[in-house]
Amino acid sequence: MNFEYTPEHEAFRKAFRSWLAATLPADLRVDDPVDDRVASNREMFERRVAWQKAMHKAGWVGIAWPKEYGGRGASIIERVIWDEEYAAARAPVLPGMGLNLVGPTIIHWGTDAQKAEYLPRILNADEIWAQGFSEPGAGSDLASLNTRAEDKGDHFLVNGQKVWTSGAQYADSIILLVRTDPNAAKHNGIGR
Ligand SMILES: Cc1cc2nc3c(=O)[nH]c(=O)nc-3n(C[C@H](O)[C@H](O)[C@H](O)COP(=O)(O)OP(=O)(O)OC[C@H]3O[C@@H](n4cnc5c(N)ncnc54)[C@H](O)[C@@H]3O)c2cc1C
Repeated sequence: MNFEYTPEHEAFRKAFRSWLAATLPADLRVDDPVDDRVASNREMFERRVAWQKAMHKAGWVGIAWPKEYGGRGASIIERVIWDEEYAAARAPVLPGMGLNLVGPTIIHWGTDAQKAEYLPRILNADEIWAQGFSEPGAGSDLASLNTRAEDKGDHFLVNGQKVWTSGAQYADSIILLVRTDPNAAKHNGIGR
């Protein structure tokens, strides 16, 4: 098996490395990519939002998403190169759970209307999402979750408690795991 990068891969790497070197502000670089300067610093959060918008404008956000939804349809090797270069440049984690969790979920399961409404806003950091899975009694074992969602026709009535919700203080929206059928077996009756 040949593990060498092709000339196209090397060109992709060079293009992203050059763009990062020319564009990433020095004071946005981090030593620890999951550092918590954002958690207590609204201004830093806003700067990362602006950074994502700049990246999106240049076509470097959501590269693994299909082209029809605003991505590049990048290959697994290109995604690895993207990760290597992003980490090597000490670039910051992009805000929210939209790009890696909510967007791909909507691409796979969403309606055309949901795709049109949410995907462009996620790519451009116009809507910041949090992840509401964990509960006081449901961490690794999410089948223990108790938060209820009752279908009221045109909306769901949600009751329960979520914990560990990273970035909740800045989020516009949250993707929830909730129990929609309390009578179903523990591993069933969960929706999002
Ligand atoms: C920094 C941080 C940010 C997070 N952000 C979010 C977020 O945004 N949204 C969200 O929903 N959640 C979030 N979480 C929660 C995280 O994803 C885990 O679900 C949660 O930390 C695990 O639950 P717990 O802490 O209650 O541990 P438990 O599930 O109670 O586990 C306790 C210990 O038991 C071990 N264990 C559990 N099950 C088994 C098993 N079957 N066999 C052997 N060992 C086992 C675990 O490894 C662990 O050591 C975050 C967690 C952290 C630390």
